[in-house]
Amino acid sequence: MEKIRLGKTDVMVSRIGFGGIPIQKSSEEEAIRIVSSCFDLGINFFDTSRVYTTSEERIGKALAGHREEAIIATKTVSRTAEKIAEDLATSLKHLGTDYVDLYQFHNVSTEDDLKTVIAPGGLLDVVRRAKKEGTVRHIGITSHRLDVAKEAVKADCFETIMVALNFVNTEAADELLAMAKENDTGVIIMKSMAGGMLENPVLAFKYLMRFPNVLPLIGIAREGEMEENIRIVEADEPITEDDQREMDRIRKELGTGFCRMCNYCQPCPQQIMISAIMYTRVAITRFDPKRIFEGEWNTFMEKVPDCIDCGECEERCPYNLPIRERIKEAADNYAAAKKVYREKRGR
Ligand code: SF4
Ligand code: SF4
Repeated sequence: MEKIRLGKTDVMVSRIGFGGIPIQKSSEEEAIRIVSSCFDLGINFFDTSRVYTTSEERIGKALAGHREEAIIATKTVSRTAEKIAEDLATSLKHLGTDYVDLYQFHNVSTEDDLKTVIAPGGLLDVVRRAKKEGTVRHIGITSHRLDVAKEAVKADCFETIMVALNFVNTEAADELLAMAKENDTGVIIMKSMAGGMLENPVLAFKYLMRFPNVLPLIGIAREGEMEENIRIVEADEPITEDDQREMDRIRKELGTGFCRMCNYCQPCPQQIMISAIMYTRVAITRFDPKRIFEGEWNTFMEKVPDCIDCGECEERCPYNLPIRERIKEAADNYAAAKKVYREKRGR
């Protein structure tokens, strides 16, 4: 499979990378088979995170024996030096390795968050030390907020940036890609399929392949799926007029009702995690049910009744989403799905 250079890391990565979210839902055996088959097909970039429950461990097991050929990227959501050091040690243990190729600050979502990460003597220095010691080879950052991502690229202290880009969420294509090129920052793309909202991989990849130096990640939930994606990527077919019409139609259809997870609606005075809550319906289909119904998602959903109806979030949302109504709907759907989950588990 064709390889591209991931910016100043100088690492050569396969034209598309493996996204480690959906394998949490499979059995361990199946997950290992999925990862191994992707490696056999020529995928060498595997992205996961400390918060994707079983994902690190499964990727580690599948790639044992191929460590030198595989590029493993993971992330931390922690924002204290002690917790980051602890997260890195846990990731190394779960991945069964003594180094990660790329260690990323996960979901840096506000300017203050970014400042905390890059402040002298702060969190970035913890990871830089790990780099010196050899447990981390390269340092990156991920963000759902384009303004924060641009600031991160401007700060020029990360070797990679991960942002959302797909044909319904094209904002990153306008300025960020040029800025990253200028600084030689490697660009990794999340939400290639708009977090599960897009169902046509042909259109999704035809759009993304227009950007020659970015690495789109694709979450794989079943064997054979990656093969299909590789075929589309390698066919390298241009966008036809029919494709363009279909993209416009989908954009229009999703246009008013679709949360881009950009987090411009934050901060919420009640600390409600709006974008995560808006994503609940898809998360239920993609994540480990234990995480959704017993882990952190519970905490997100429990906050919904704290909404004081101030409407500040809706004023900030560039897509005019009826956020208050949507988070209440999401909470009701979540409660119903949780009831089914508990009944199945007999409690
Ligand atoms: S309306 Fe509710 S969710 Fe939105 S900012 Fe106010 S408290 Fe937060
Ligand atoms: S609700 Fe609006 S502002 Fe908030 S994450 Fe979704 S699209 Fe962005």
